[in-house]
Amino acid sequence: MDRVVQREHLFVAQMRHMRPMVETYLQNLKTDKDGNNSPVKDQYFLGRLDMSDGPEDTSFVGQPGFGRRMVNHLTGLYSMRFLPLGFAQMVVLDPDFQKKYYDMTFVRREFLGEVRCLVIDVQPKEGSGTSRFMGRIWVEDQDYNVVRFNGTYYPHPKTSYYLHFDSWRLNMRPGTWLPAYIYSEESDFKYGITKGLHFRAQTRLWGYDLKALSKNSEFTQILVDSPQSVKDQSDAGADATPVVAERMWERQAEDNAVERMQKIGLLAPPGDVDKILQTVVNNLLVTNNIDLQGDIRCRVLLTSPLESFTIGHTIVLSRGLLDVLPDEASLAMVLAHELSHIVLGHKFDTKLAFNDRMFFADQESFQRLDFKRRPADEEAADTKALELLKNSPYKDKLGTAGLFLKQLQERAPDLPNLIRPHLGNSFAEGKGIRMSALLAAAPQLDPQRTDQIAALPLGGRIKLDPWSDQVELAKAKPVALASAKEKMPFEITPFFPYLTRISIPGSEKVALTAPAPK
Ligand SMILES: [Zn+2]
Repeated sequence: MDRVVQREHLFVAQMRHMRPMVETYLQNLKTDKDGNNSPVKDQYFLGRLDMSDGPEDTSFVGQPGFGRRMVNHLTGLYSMRFLPLGFAQMVVLDPDFQKKYYDMTFVRREFLGEVRCLVIDVQPKEGSGTSRFMGRIWVEDQDYNVVRFNGTYYPHPKTSYYLHFDSWRLNMRPGTWLPAYIYSEESDFKYGITKGLHFRAQTRLWGYDLKALSKNSEFTQILVDSPQSVKDQSDAGADATPVVAERMWERQAEDNAVERMQKIGLLAPPGDVDKILQTVVNNLLVTNNIDLQGDIRCRVLLTSPLESFTIGHTIVLSRGLLDVLPDEASLAMVLAHELSHIVLGHKFDTKLAFNDRMFFADQESFQRLDFKRRPADEEAADTKALELLKNSPYKDKLGTAGLFLKQLQERAPDLPNLIRPHLGNSFAEGKGIRMSALLAAAPQLDPQRTDQIAALPLGGRIKLDPWSDQVELAKAKPVALASAKEKMPFEITPFFPYLTRISIPGSEKVALTAPAPK
């Protein structure tokens, strides 16, 4: 227990130097007459967690208005009205974790993924103050890091309330376990006199390894490397022709925006998922005999709200959107729309080619970067996309794409924050929906059929490495559904990550020793 306590203090100290992105997505639920829960409202928060302001942190729990105070620790990238009770505090077990405050009972040993853990029940002692952790902790059995804790804080002060949560840490560097996922849920939570809460919420953290983001430098980053591709386009020794210069200029604006977004932690670095998207794009291009000048690149936006947009010749899809798309044909539908903007040569504002336009605070990103299209361009892209799809290998499978749109249309009024894009155009605005021509050909939406999957729950497809921001396709295979209740389109579920341990590779050991004399 002494080692667990000591490790936890080290963890709190470590977190002071970390400034991860933190995203909370919450769905309020209602129970229908058959006893099924479905979302009726949602809330979204995205920011950067900052626990750096010294000893202040040790007292942030237990202060009146704790939730509100914690919100002050978040720099809002996108501000929603207010999360009533703050979620980010759930990364910390107890900022002043001491053995003397708690009764601890060893329960058993248990594996979480491949990591063997000690399972311990933890209860605050009588009179040990408010806002202590109460619940169960899982401690890995090599260095005694807490890797999961599940419970709530107790007792709550007069002016604030605590929710139940299940908080997971991943082994991101040798010996270092950092918060990655928090699941929270209440079904009958009373606060105030009459207010009741019924919700599920997912909090995700990532962007731990944004080295360049020291506090002082982030507002004045100069991010432009000279891109190799720009060089390739010009003939050796010759000035660019006007057409080539125009293309280079657009590419410079595109590269500026893409690099900046990656640096902030909004965009995953180039990786395997991009290649999968590119393959689908190539299928569309080849079957339509389109030969575009310059590559099309695909990238993943790391946030949950469903959106897609283009930055010059870069097509961007959000993680949340990739999660919920049911199959390749519906992915092709999304990509075909974006590709059409490029094929039709829709205007791309090159103002971002000026480097000073990249000097802005991270939290202004959604104001400074805007890739919205005019309604006329949206319509034209829809029409072109249908044409591309009809010539493509996906032409006979567009029923599922239409079904996805139907499901989206049905849920959109209840989930405005999931549907609201931050950088591009909305999938569903008012009564209109993107690619609506596909709706007519789609089968009837049948919520009771377990073999009709119109849209998946959030978090099912894309796995995000919270340290490097790399994304990959989740390995787990889909399971057969026991009942229609398990379809959960666009819904929030608990987290059960498969924990693994990072072993120290030989190279890092060598780096720690002094170089051998020659
Ligand atoms: Zn569009």
